[in-house]
Amino acid sequence: MKIERIRVWQVDLPLAEGRYSWSEGKSVDVFDSTVVAVDTDTGLTGYGEVCPLGPFYLPAYAEGARAGIRRLGPALLGQNPLHVEKINRYMDRCLQGHPYVKSALDMAFWDLLGKKSGLPVCDLMGGRYGERVRLYRAISQESPDRMAEKVAGYRREGYRRFQLKVGGDPDVDIERIRAVRGILESGDVLVADANTGWLPHQAMRVVAAIRDLDVYVEQPCRSYEECLGVRQHTDLPFVLDENIDSLTPLLRAHADRAMDVINIKISKFGGLTRARQARDLAVHLGLAMTLEDSWGGDIITAAISHLAHSTPEEFRFTSTDFNSYVSQPLASGAPRRVDGFFEASTSPGLGIEPLMDVLGEPEFVIEGDPSP
Ligand code: MG
Repeated sequence: MKIERIRVWQVDLPLAEGRYSWSEGKSVDVFDSTVVAVDTDTGLTGYGEVCPLGPFYLPAYAEGARAGIRRLGPALLGQNPLHVEKINRYMDRCLQGHPYVKSALDMAFWDLLGKKSGLPVCDLMGGRYGERVRLYRAISQESPDRMAEKVAGYRREGYRRFQLKVGGDPDVDIERIRAVRGILESGDVLVADANTGWLPHQAMRVVAAIRDLDVYVEQPCRSYEECLGVRQHTDLPFVLDENIDSLTPLLRAHADRAMDVINIKISKFGGLTRARQARDLAVHLGLAMTLEDSWGGDIITAAISHLAHSTPEEFRFTSTDFNSYVSQPLASGAPRRVDGFFEASTSPGLGIEPLMDVLGEPEFVIEGDPSP
């Protein structure tokens, strides 16, 4: 199989709640997502998506994803997309770094591998564990009372795991965490995710003030060293996210006993191939995982479902159904949440079919003679 053409679309994904806000006053109203189609000489097409959480979450931004694909794409013409490891090494040789640029392309390669073999990506990534995958709901940063109301509402929809966006004023954050934990029941899981928003002295005050609560603390500070310092002064279970973006920091953090759970976002690692490597290493090391992406629509939600459903159940801390946060559908066949759970499709590949009337004309198309 050879890649003949790559089509790229820009799609706006408005938030159903109107706005998503997190640490340090950051917010997004309309997400800018990029959809790719990788067309091959067999007539099969694979689809992928990448959607950064605005330009100020990770070192990634929406226009950068498209600029990177425009730069990298011509080198992929003529390559075999089914050799997922080999073509990832090739992409790294053509374009160093910029993992998020490669994420949608790699997702499309897995979609093609599934369509060619007649198997869902979940099966190709190791096999399906359990009937369904438990989801969490991220709660946008607002007043403590409003966040508690939102959690109560989403709890009625079936969610039992919640990730509070904190990382603001530490005193208000303490109120936010107490207000929400106060309405939850035993067995419900609460994560306070500061998204790097606290300075070390602020994080130390928060973990001391909530030490009596059943709550996880996620990525309190910007640097790994700052987070490790906080970790060494709290008994609360600890999640690292922004600092864990490849196998090297994952191994270092495990050696330091720097966390109990890691967050694997597909585009942060550069696609499903690299996310799966990290997932398998985390299973080997005994680390539970949040398996998700930075943001996305139907195609990313499908990719998350395959990565999560092929992860042993005891290692699945949470996952996310981003397509229920946004009001714009992108594809049919994507997983839909039922009672706080979703499941990976059993159709070949990612199991989705893009809505071409939504995508419209591609922003650009890469085709022509492959470079020698
Ligand atoms: Mg996080």
